[in-house]
Amino acid sequence: MTTTITHWADGAGYDGTSQLWADVTNPATGTVSGRVALASERDARHVIGAAKQASATWAGTSLARRTQILFAFRELLNARKDELAQLITAEHGKVHSDAVGEISRGQEVVEFACGIAHLLKGGQSGNASTGVDVHSRRDPLGVVGIISPFNFPAMVPMWFFPIAIAAGNTVVLKPSEKDPSAALWIAKLWKEAGLPDGVFNVLQGDKVAVDALLQSPDVAAISFVGSTPIAQYVYEEASRYGKRVQALGGAKNHMVVLPDADLELAADAAVNAGYGSAGERCMAISVLVAVEPIADDLVARIAERTRTLRTGDGRRGAEVEADMGPLVTKAHRDKVAGFVDSGEAAGAKLVIDGRDVEAVGDQDGFWLGPTLFDHVTPEMEIYREEIFGPVLSVVRVPSYDEAVALINDNPYGNGTAIFTNDGGAARRFENDVQVGMIGVNIPIPVPVAYYSFGGWKRSLFGDTHAHGTEGVHFFTRAKVVTTRWINPAARPEGGLELGFPQNV
Ligand code: NAD
Repeated sequence: MTTTITHWADGAGYDGTSQLWADVTNPATGTVSGRVALASERDARHVIGAAKQASATWAGTSLARRTQILFAFRELLNARKDELAQLITAEHGKVHSDAVGEISRGQEVVEFACGIAHLLKGGQSGNASTGVDVHSRRDPLGVVGIISPFNFPAMVPMWFFPIAIAAGNTVVLKPSEKDPSAALWIAKLWKEAGLPDGVFNVLQGDKVAVDALLQSPDVAAISFVGSTPIAQYVYEEASRYGKRVQALGGAKNHMVVLPDADLELAADAAVNAGYGSAGERCMAISVLVAVEPIADDLVARIAERTRTLRTGDGRRGAEVEADMGPLVTKAHRDKVAGFVDSGEAAGAKLVIDGRDVEAVGDQDGFWLGPTLFDHVTPEMEIYREEIFGPVLSVVRVPSYDEAVALINDNPYGNGTAIFTNDGGAARRFENDVQVGMIGVNIPIPVPVAYYSFGGWKRSLFGDTHAHGTEGVHFFTRAKVVTTRWINPAARPEGGLELGFPQNV
C-alpha cells in the first residue's frame, strides 16, 4: 500500500492543484512506498499565503504562550520520537538508532528555543542623554522559508524552525522530495502541541517550490541546507530578491591523525565517522590524513574494524541489527559506486570494496558496503569530489604542515578533526585550519544547540550560522528605541534648534 504525502497549510493537509506527484521509495527494498505532491507556483502561493495570514497574530502572541507551546512540542516529540525514527528509516534508509540520534540532536534545538524569552532580551540604558533613555529589542521577520536536504529529514529542519517559531515568525518548510514524510509528521505534532494554524506549514516539491519561496515577496528570509551548487544558487537568487539568506552547502571533511595519537581511538573514530549513516552526513569524515610513520598500522586497524560492519535493512526489528543501511536512491548508489570505479582506475589502493557487499535485506535494496581506499592523492576524483557515501580515503603525508596545507587548499571548510595526545599541536591546529567546526579527538564535532553550526568557504554562503545565538539573530531584527518622557515637575525649556542633536 502506498501513502500520499501532501502539503500542510493552515493546520491541515493540502493536496495542491498541480496534479504532479513524485515516487518515494524505501531504499532497503527498492519498492515505491508513497507519492509526494510536487507544488506548482499556485500551490506555493497558497501555502505561503497561510503563513502570511498567521504572521501578525503569532508575532503578537505573548512570549509566555509561545514558550508554553514549545515546551508542549518538546514533550510530545520526546515521547514519540520512535515513531518519527521509523518514518525516517523507511524513506532515508539510515538504521533506527541513527534516526533516533538525529531526532535527539534536533530536539536539543527545541530545548534551546524553550529559553527564547531570555534570548530575546534587549539592552537598556537609562539617562543615555539628559532625560533620555535607550532600549533595544529584537522583532520577528515575518514568514521564513526553510529548504532542507534528504540526509537529515528531521534534524536539519529542527536547526531552524524551533528558533524561528519561538521568535515569532511563521514558517514554510520545503523538505527533500526523497523523504518528505517527516515534515508532515512534525506539522501534525505542532498542531497537537497547540500551535495556531498557519504558523508551521509544509510545501512539498522540487525546484518549482524552491524558486517560489526564493522569489515570493511575502517571504522575508531563507535558510537552506544542501549541496554546494544549489546552496550558491539559493544564496544568489534569494539575495537578488532582497531576502536575508543563510545557505549551507557540501563538505569534504578531513581527519588528521598525528603519530602520537591513540591509534585504537582514532581507528574507531574513523570507522564511526566514515561509515555512519552510510557516509550520507555533511559532517562525515571522508578523508583520513595519516601523518607518517603510522599509516600502515592505522589502515590495518581501520580495515579490521570495517570488515566487521553489517550492512542491511535498518528498520527496528529487522532480521539482523545492521550498522549501516542502504543509500537513499538507486541513482545515488550507482553514482557512489562510480566513484569507487574511478578511484580504482586512478590507482588508489582498494583495501575494502563495498560494491560486492552481501547486505542483510532485500536484494533490490540500494546497497553499497563500506569502502576503504589507501594511497589516495589530491589529484584523484575521489579526493576532489564530495562522494556522500560510505567511502573513506586515506591520504598519507610526511608532516603536520602538509596535513594542514591539504585542509586549507580544499574548497570546502565544514568540519575537521585532529587526533593527537599533544595539546600544543591541537591548539596550533585550531589556529591554523580554515574550517568552521573542529574536533580534537572527536570525529564529528557538531556543536551543541547553544553554539552555532556552520562551515567556512564553499560550505556556507551568507554570514550567519545555524542555531545558537547566530540563529536567534538570523530570525530576528533589531530595533533601538530612544525615549524622552517629560518630568512634569521639571519641564525642560522648548525652543527651536536645527543643528544635529548632540548628547549632553
Ligand atoms: P540537494 O542540494 O540536491 O537538495 C537540497 C534541497 O534543494 C532539496 O530540498 C531539493 O529539493 C532542493 N533542490 C535540488 N535541486 C534544486 C534546484 N536545481 N533548484 C532549487 N532547489 C533544488 O542536496 P541533497 O542531495 O538533498 O543533500 C545532500 C547535500 O547536502 C550534500 O552535499 C551535503 O553535504 C549537504 N548537506 C550539508 C549540510 C551542512 O550543514 N553544510 C548538512 C546536510 C547536508
